[in-house]
Amino acid sequence: MTILHSKAFLCSASFVFYLNLKYIMPKRIFTIPFAALLLLTRLVADAQDMQIRTSEKETGRRLLEWQSTGTGQNIDVKHYRCRWRIDPNVRYISGSVSTTFTTLDTASFLVFDFYNGLTVDSVVFRSQKKQFSFTAAKIFRIRLGTLVSQGTTDSVSVYYKGIPANSGFGAFNRQLHAGVPIIWTMSCPYGAADWWPCKQDLIDKPDSIDLIISTPAAYRAAGNGKLVAEYPSGTDKVFHWKHKYPIAVYLIATAVTNYAAFTHKVQLPSQTPGDSLPVVNFVYPETQNSAQTDTRRVLPILQFYDSLVAPYPFAREKYGHAQFGWGGGMEHQTMSFMTDFSFSLQAHELAHQWFGDHITCRSWRDIWLNEGWATYLTAVSQRRFGTANFTTWLNTTINQITANGSGSVWVSDTTNINRIFDYRLTYQKGALLLHMLRWELGDSLFWTGVRNYQADPVLKFGFATTRQFISHLEAVSGKDLQPFLNQWFTGQGHPTVQVKLVRNGLDMQLTLTQSTSHPSVPFFNLKIPIRFAGAGMDTILIFRPETAVAQYSFSLPQSPSSVTFDPQKWLLARSSVQLITQTLEMKAGVQGIRVYPNPFSGSLHLSNEQNTSCSFEIYNSAGRLLQNGHVLPEIHKTLDMNDLDPGFYFLKIKEGRQIHSFKLVKY
Ligand SMILES: [Zn+2]
Repeated sequence: MTILHSKAFLCSASFVFYLNLKYIMPKRIFTIPFAALLLLTRLVADAQDMQIRTSEKETGRRLLEWQSTGTGQNIDVKHYRCRWRIDPNVRYISGSVSTTFTTLDTASFLVFDFYNGLTVDSVVFRSQKKQFSFTAAKIFRIRLGTLVSQGTTDSVSVYYKGIPANSGFGAFNRQLHAGVPIIWTMSCPYGAADWWPCKQDLIDKPDSIDLIISTPAAYRAAGNGKLVAEYPSGTDKVFHWKHKYPIAVYLIATAVTNYAAFTHKVQLPSQTPGDSLPVVNFVYPETQNSAQTDTRRVLPILQFYDSLVAPYPFAREKYGHAQFGWGGGMEHQTMSFMTDFSFSLQAHELAHQWFGDHITCRSWRDIWLNEGWATYLTAVSQRRFGTANFTTWLNTTINQITANGSGSVWVSDTTNINRIFDYRLTYQKGALLLHMLRWELGDSLFWTGVRNYQADPVLKFGFATTRQFISHLEAVSGKDLQPFLNQWFTGQGHPTVQVKLVRNGLDMQLTLTQSTSHPSVPFFNLKIPIRFAGAGMDTILIFRPETAVAQYSFSLPQSPSSVTFDPQKWLLARSSVQLITQTLEMKAGVQGIRVYPNPFSGSLHLSNEQNTSCSFEIYNSAGRLLQNGHVLPEIHKTLDMNDLDPGFYFLKIKEGRQIHSFKLVKY
């Protein structure tokens, strides 16, 4: 679902190419005055700490969530056959819903989610009318009048009419466009019961549905699946949509108005040559000209997702759009409803066909599996087709998420629809979780894991938990990603990283100091890329601190003039950078004896400005003596160091009984 209130996919910026991307290993620094201050922190490739295992409490919470409201618990729904009459002139519905089911237990009654403001004319089971009652505002109970044994497949029909409720985002809406009425349905997340009797949960998908919608002949009805029949019935016209794939109840929908209809065709990479997928569009006549062009933008995106993620899940039927009056879009299976045909809206709702429709979040707590994915794939496709700058999107998204220091991607209160569809947490932060997982695993493993997830026979055309999704990434990478979930999914907030680099010749002292915006995650285990750039150098080094304050000492081939935290924007973090430019000449020498320059490239100068002589020794880093000699009082001596390789050297100055040691750097 897309709620249009935040669009920031504009601007462009140049890409930066990086010369060098590598892990840095720590260098042991010798006991010289500068280095003595350093605490070396070990770098590790993988996080091993922060392993807070799923607690029993969390497991219990999850189990609780899997239970539905109590409706339909004794049946497994196989099929819904819905016959509706909808006249967009009047906000009203009449018709029948026949549910085919298999009993999971011995059953003497059935319970559906259904709004008690609607009038039920009759309930028919085995050709007999049955007793029924509303036991709560949206709980409808049918007495079967007999004991139906477990494992029986049968069906029940509910005949009803009336004015539907309109909860959530407006489950059964009427509006005008260009003076013409439209009625559309939008059941997400809990609105299906407002207008039809169903088992309203996420985890019992019927195997197939028939939507048989009658409307005055001036109008057309859009629906899921294939339009298998279209025929007159008196002054009405009947549109029969048949969908032969499993479908979550909240994705079953219709929209009725004076639609203009046209179909594009696209060949998908997964299809055999000669095959193509119809993309059926039901648009307002007044927008038909622009929609004919604009809806074609979804065709290359379909091809892109089909090759990047998995074959289009509903390829035997169609994909399509139906225009509606709600401010955004809704990914009704095989027929996304949308207010207009912008690239981003089409890309978002299309992405849901894989993430949300094909594999549905098992609980609304896991809604990021739908919305985080749709948001992320939209950004990825915008980058792929050049319709928006990816870095700009990342910058905007990171800024908006971190504008608030709390809130988890995990939805703690699934009765709060605004929280389920919270744009910052579910959409933006959900998308950044995927982006960070991609950084954590690398592109190849990440996308392999995603494709395995989409192909998992247990999950496909079904539903998944966050854990099940993550397990696929763990399987391909061999990494334990539970710490990642603890930090980013159930944990709240984000880190702020202060980067402080002290340059001293070619020696670097880097300090990374992390603070957290929320106590639920005292420390974020991050793989932090830092870019060091200057004339002729552009290098990214990756650090993995294990503590809130971590210091690293290393040398670079040149001294950088700029330091950038996470230059490619892989991390959901705030940062600040402090570059301390010390005079590059390392202090070497004692009172009255100067050694310069340091770092040096060719010659090294020793200037004895005191009235006693001194001696010197120069060693390489292995401790081998390379040069030694004396410098008489008031004498300046030039040492030819051209033959030495770049690296560290050590200078000892003996002055009477005193010995002073210094580090020299040749570049
Ligand atoms: Zn969405």
